[in-house]
Amino acid sequence: MATYLILLGPPGAGKGTQAKLLAVEAGLPHISSGDIFRQNLTESTELGKQARLYIDRGELVPDDVTIAMIRERLSRPDCQAGAILDGFPRTIDQATGLDEMLAAFGSGVDRVLYVDIADEELIRRLSGRLVCRAQGHIYHQAFNPPKQPGVCDVDGSALYQREDDKEATVRHRIQVYMQQTAPLIEHYRQRGLLSEIDGEQPVEAVTRDMLAAIGEGS
Ligand code: ADP
Ligand code: ADP
Repeated sequence: MATYLILLGPPGAGKGTQAKLLAVEAGLPHISSGDIFRQNLTESTELGKQARLYIDRGELVPDDVTIAMIRERLSRPDCQAGAILDGFPRTIDQATGLDEMLAAFGSGVDRVLYVDIADEELIRRLSGRLVCRAQGHIYHQAFNPPKQPGVCDVDGSALYQREDDKEATVRHRIQVYMQQTAPLIEHYRQRGLLSEIDGEQPVEAVTRDMLAAIGEGS
């Protein structure tokens, strides 16, 4: 039986950071909708051109486009044992779309890890976030700096600040999250799938709590 885990939380909560660690621990692929969009942007694909209109403004890419992209990604052979979904679903319609695609695989959502964190901390995290060009490895200028400034520890590629991590866009993204994504917290809580995780702890403590929530902790 495949395992599907969802990381839910506002932009900057630490979903990407944790998803990469959980992927190793749980032996499942990390599927980040944001990373897939950014890769398509870099490659100037049709999907990338469509998504750019929304991403640069801090809006959500339309549900039909996003759901189709995730369906294609989850159908690939490396997702046969399941996946860790980071940044998807972000609307109730996306959650419904996900249920339908997983039902078609004879499966369903196993657990939703909701990373809870205060707004002021989000701004601090996003304004200092640095991402690597090659594979999206995540750093923070102050909280998790690379060994050598501007260079990824893992693959040596250049680090950059995301265009949508500029302060004005960040504030708008948090509003969009509150309006369109936060209702998913109640949606999954009612279904008994939600585990709340304190996202303001150090990275290792957050990972430990997540592993405990999915039954892999000690
Ligand atoms: P998200 O994917 O939810 O948007 P990220 O994983 O990209 O969040 O993290 C946002 C920023 O916060 C990054 O710069 C990251 O290095 C930093 N960060 C992540 N987790 C923590 C933590 N537990 N404590 C301090 N900083 C963190
Ligand atoms: P963060 O975790 O910091 O919010 P992401 O990398 O997950 O950022 O997403 C960046 C942008 O990509 C979003 O602001 C949005 O425009 C687009 N995006 C990512 N995932 C989705 C999704 N599930 N639905 C719609 N748009 C999305």
